[in-house]
Amino acid sequence: MILPPSMLGMLGGGQLARFFVIAAHEMGYRVMVLDPDRNSPAGKIADVHLCAAYDDAKALSEMARDCAAVTTEFENVPASTLRALADAVPVYPAASAVATCQHRISEKNFLRDHGFPHAPYAEINGEADIPGAGSGLYPGILKVARFGYDGKGQARVRTPAEALAAFRRFGGEQCVLEQMMALDYEVSVVLARDAAGNIAAFPTTENIHRDGILDISIAPARGGESVRGQAQTLARGIAEKLDYVGTLGVEFFVCKGALYVNEMAPRPHNSGHYTIDACVTDQFEQQVRALCGLPLGDARLHSAAVMVNLLGDVWRDGQVPAWHVLFEQANLKLHLYGKHEARPGRKMGHFTVIGEDAALVLDNAMSARSRIRVEG
Ligand code: ADP
Ligand code: MG
Repeated sequence: MILPPSMLGMLGGGQLARFFVIAAHEMGYRVMVLDPDRNSPAGKIADVHLCAAYDDAKALSEMARDCAAVTTEFENVPASTLRALADAVPVYPAASAVATCQHRISEKNFLRDHGFPHAPYAEINGEADIPGAGSGLYPGILKVARFGYDGKGQARVRTPAEALAAFRRFGGEQCVLEQMMALDYEVSVVLARDAAGNIAAFPTTENIHRDGILDISIAPARGGESVRGQAQTLARGIAEKLDYVGTLGVEFFVCKGALYVNEMAPRPHNSGHYTIDACVTDQFEQQVRALCGLPLGDARLHSAAVMVNLLGDVWRDGQVPAWHVLFEQANLKLHLYGKHEARPGRKMGHFTVIGEDAALVLDNAMSARSRIRVEG
């Protein structure tokens, strides 16, 4: 077991890393953050901020020297960085699990090879793959295999000609072409798994997206018990097949009562932010616990919860939103990430409403949002 006041290493300095730093500090650990951005949300509150690139040899050797274990907040860390660190210090999740999740082709092939349900897809490694991709995939969605997030690097395509045009627009990068699924709704499961294989899963959460970006998470998910249960079973199966250690997010599509795995995130997940305010142990404390070899905490939900993301769009014309409106609501918890610049589509913060009555909680969350945000 790695115990406080050991130093833990974090690759990436965004809001997920910031919540990790907060959880680790609460538990008595110190944290070293590597992020090239001087103003990164986590770098600003870390014990040590290495302001350098993710493949900077000097920074990596400093991290390996001073940290008892290292983890990541995002899947786009070069696999070579994780492997180099792993030679010197425990790194969780393992480079192999991150590599599977960071590339949409390896992710989809992993799902296919292990029999997990997924949307029909084709690998597009070059223009020549488009004519052979099969007409059954249209209307479809072309997604770049790497570095896509929050709906970026995606195009809806109705014909092979449109797919070709989108592929060229993406600069000929490797892509997957996926069938557009008729979604009833979307759910996710965030769980933590330790090195001994114990799993503590948070409840299945219902997620509503807007323009490809998570907008609202409702915990527990509404709808049928069978959907909630299937999502839990699939997420556990995926964590086991990945031999995953740490906090993992798995996104699902629900179509006519059947589940399809959309994608996995080898890190805490935006749809798990409600766990900070509504669960006995939150997803970031679980990340610390799994990393340090501590037993996982109780993942039980103690209140119904609705989380609402606050994007930069809420800062209209540079005006700071009316925060007092949110603070006036006693069962609402506001979290701001300390980002300087509010750009449209950028995740600036979130709030969570908790309570006993799920319908009332949703109602409170929607009315709080409408009071700070003018619907576009
Ligand atoms: P990101 O990495 O940006 O989260 P996703 O693949 O999860 O990318 O896509 C973002 C959102 O776009 C999904 O949550 C879903 O709402 C929609 N979407 C993505 N793929 C499909 C699909 N094959 N069919 C229907 N909707 C999709
Ligand atoms: Mg997604």
